[in-house]
Amino acid sequence: MSERVEIVSIGNELLIGKTLNTNSHWLARSLVSLGLSVDRITVVRDNVAEIAEALREAMQRSPNFIITTGGLGPTFDDMTLSGLAQALNSCLQLNKKALKMIQEKYVEIASELGCETLELTPPREKMAVIPEGAEPLPNPVGTAPAVTIKWKTVTIFALPGVPQEMKAIFEDSLLDPLRKAIGDRARFEASLHVSGVMESEMAPLIEEVMHANPLVYIKSHPKGSENNPVLELHLSTTAKNIATAKTLVGRTLVQLSAVVEGAGGKTRTGTIPSAGS
Ligand code: AMP
Ligand code: MG
Repeated sequence: MSERVEIVSIGNELLIGKTLNTNSHWLARSLVSLGLSVDRITVVRDNVAEIAEALREAMQRSPNFIITTGGLGPTFDDMTLSGLAQALNSCLQLNKKALKMIQEKYVEIASELGCETLELTPPREKMAVIPEGAEPLPNPVGTAPAVTIKWKTVTIFALPGVPQEMKAIFEDSLLDPLRKAIGDRARFEASLHVSGVMESEMAPLIEEVMHANPLVYIKSHPKGSENNPVLELHLSTTAKNIATAKTLVGRTLVQLSAVVEGAGGKTRTGTIPSAGS
């Protein structure tokens, strides 16, 4: 059984179509490549009650990890940590370690800008106010520290919304604990490109091959149309090591190619650039 993760993306901009939720796409890809299972991605607006509700619901499902993105900055609508405190029934407090991280950042920025100091104004200090018992995680790119806290068996990480910051913190502070939780596991994926067989004809054939290879998931991605059928069949598995994962996918690929050719289709392995599909 894979360790389970839920992602909660927070931000009005995601719900009005201003910003594409690239953070959850990147996180899902990274987490799944590591061998974790992403069970759910939720998007909520900048509203304390809605953030708290989404987090509580996720916590009740007891995933191993919950990762939030967005809403850690200095502005009035950055409310993730208030929502997190509410979900945990805890309070917010000024965290000395977080404050020191922020102070050091502004000393750095001041020296880069050639000014003497940058005052620790209330909006800047706000980024050090985190739920009681939470730990700040350094932000190597921006100013707002990320935050982590454990609730029962769930480890929660709150990451900033700026993609560069989110990725840097993921790599610096999340990779190790995630890898530790996963233990030995490897994922392998391959694609079989099929032409000349309609998706509706392929459907029972895919089921048949999946039935014979229950550890491999086969997802059909139509790239053409029923009268000019072009399909990408994406095969993926997670196993205890990469050799096993490759063997499982390889065996399935051979069987799938045989049934496609039996149905009069042409096959080609490899990957083609896909537009987010
Ligand atoms: P925030 O930390 O919520 O103030 O967001 C800072 C910046 O990151 C804004 O420009 C957002 O549009 C962007 N951002 C927030 N969430 C995401 C996301 N899920 N995917 C991509 N960009 C995001
Ligand atoms: Mg936001």
